[in-house]
Amino acid sequence: MKQERNILICGGAGYIGSHMAQWLAEHGHEVTVLDNLSTGHREAVRWGDLIEADLLDPASLERAFGGRRFDAVMHFCARSLVGESVTQPYAYYANNVTGTLNLLEAMRRHDVGKLVFSSTAAVFGNPITDAIDEAHPKAPINPYGASKLMAERFLSDAAQAYGLRSVALRYFNAAGALPDHGIGEAHACETHLIPNVLRAALGQGPSLKIFGNDYDTADGTCVRDYVHVQDLAQAHALALNFMDKEEGAHTFNLGNGQGFSVHDVIATAANVTGLPIPYEVTARREGDPARLVAASDKAREQLGWAPQWTELAPIIDSAWRWHHDQPTWSPHHAHNDHPVQAA
Ligand code: UDP
Repeated sequence: MKQERNILICGGAGYIGSHMAQWLAEHGHEVTVLDNLSTGHREAVRWGDLIEADLLDPASLERAFGGRRFDAVMHFCARSLVGESVTQPYAYYANNVTGTLNLLEAMRRHDVGKLVFSSTAAVFGNPITDAIDEAHPKAPINPYGASKLMAERFLSDAAQAYGLRSVALRYFNAAGALPDHGIGEAHACETHLIPNVLRAALGQGPSLKIFGNDYDTADGTCVRDYVHVQDLAQAHALALNFMDKEEGAHTFNLGNGQGFSVHDVIATAANVTGLPIPYEVTARREGDPARLVAASDKAREQLGWAPQWTELAPIIDSAWRWHHDQPTWSPHHAHNDHPVQAA
């Protein structure tokens, strides 16, 4: 029998969190979104109530958990930009480490014993194998990856100390959108490759910059593994079932297992849009490994994860349909110096 759950989505007004809310609501679960709207959008909260709270403000967390009963928490609140993490490490450790500690403490006080955590391929640093599995050494080369690895470590300590059950999902490159549900990627200051490529196709904003073409890859540009946000949402839902049976802290890598270079993405986007994508090659961006491709066999075997969006073109097409007709969402309001971002 299908079990309906009451899920708190921290960062549910953000890119991946809003797709999570859509998935859970469509599958009959009760959703509550917690977000400080520092980078998330009120308009993206289309499923469930919105609680405005901040992980760096324990009193607001206390209010959020008080009087409500959650079966599990999904935690998408984070600063998540590699380049920015190099120049603003404080914000990354404060939000991603302290914010997570505060959230887990609120969960412990309110007896919520299951967490699905957004982690990242950035915990691995420069890969020493072609495809990265969970056993690969963790040697982050930027503060973003380091902050997520510290939070992962805390999850295993919390499993030991208080019996917290958790699944940390290490996303490779989240991409795509669900334009038919009115949600997609909308960052005030866009740094991600696919949205920037699509903006260049539309002639919006500054021209596309390729950050380095002297990497040790086939065409000299960085290679990444793009995975659709809806497939990421599916994995989170499966993680809830997994935690019903399994105690402890678990980690899974999530990607399609195929690497695409920046030039591959540009060529595919030119095909999908039928438009030229003007670009210029500039210096490398600090903190970028040359190649990040997932081995996700563990997620497929143990969670039963079966990604539906296995080709790059449909992923880019979904993003394209969203960007093309993107609604104007309210600007972010920065109400503290170190906002917790909905990833
Ligand atoms: N990239 C680029 N131009 C851009 C944005 C990204 O060349 O405008 C490159 C970036 O250096 C990286 C890849 O595209 O190699 C993916 O970057 P993105 O920021 O989308 O994701 P990340 O891998 O940093 O999580």
